[in-house]
Amino acid sequence: MTDASAPAAAFRADVLTLYPEMFPGPLGVSLAGRALARGTWSLTATQIRDFATDRHRTVDDTPAGGGPGMVMRPDVLAAAIDAVSPADDPRPRLLMSPRGAPLTQARVRALAAGPGAVILCGRFEGVDERVIGRRGLEEVSIGDYVLSGGEVAALVVLDAVVRLLPGVMGNAASGHTESFETGLLEHPQYTRPAAFEGEEIPPVLLSGDHGKVDVWRRTEALRITRERRPDLHAAHVAGKSRSEA
Ligand code: SAH
Repeated sequence: MTDASAPAAAFRADVLTLYPEMFPGPLGVSLAGRALARGTWSLTATQIRDFATDRHRTVDDTPAGGGPGMVMRPDVLAAAIDAVSPADDPRPRLLMSPRGAPLTQARVRALAAGPGAVILCGRFEGVDERVIGRRGLEEVSIGDYVLSGGEVAALVVLDAVVRLLPGVMGNAASGHTESFETGLLEHPQYTRPAAFEGEEIPPVLLSGDHGKVDVWRRTEALRITRERRPDLHAAHVAGKSRSEA
């Protein structure tokens, strides 16, 4: 039942999947779960199989040209997409795919600023190429490894997006100093006790001198990024020299 007096969710997610019972899953608890209950975002998981037209409710078939595995049929997928996302739907339509553009914090931020997303989860060997073009699907990868299906990838995308929606994170400032938001990985974090197994918290962090703390954090963020992600460090340095030119 939808409550007519409740404001429409700011971010509307539709997920198309052969396993709707996997949603909201981990997004039903903690920050995302509370935001879902409050109506900050909405999530509808739709069973793709409901759009199959034959007696056996077939959603896949053998690959044209031969080879192992099965491919998801374009007609069934298109019918499922059209049912949740009319032609004038302003939301981006994402296809979870190891061939897609790797997900970045910038793309996550852009999604969070928009009206929502329609997310198609692949299974088997993937989906017929024609539905990708004809329904304007944007292929998104969550990393260079292969999952058994797009559901876990969709949960990753939504988790990253939902935490950025207004009012979801307790401390709004924490979203801006984190890894990737500044183009750098985050500095090390410490909390009590002051000594843990004989190892002390770096004294500067207990000095109360916010200027010195900022300098230390920035220096550490640069060091960690240089050591662990030379690609990000190089891009950061290049970006800085461009903006200073
Ligand atoms: N044969 C495909 C892999 C299919 S894996 C290939 O070699 O490219 C089955 C489904 O899992 C995919 O259709 C996709 O929806 C999902 N998936 C697998 N790995 C993924 C990843 N790294 N990112 C996003 N989705 C992924």
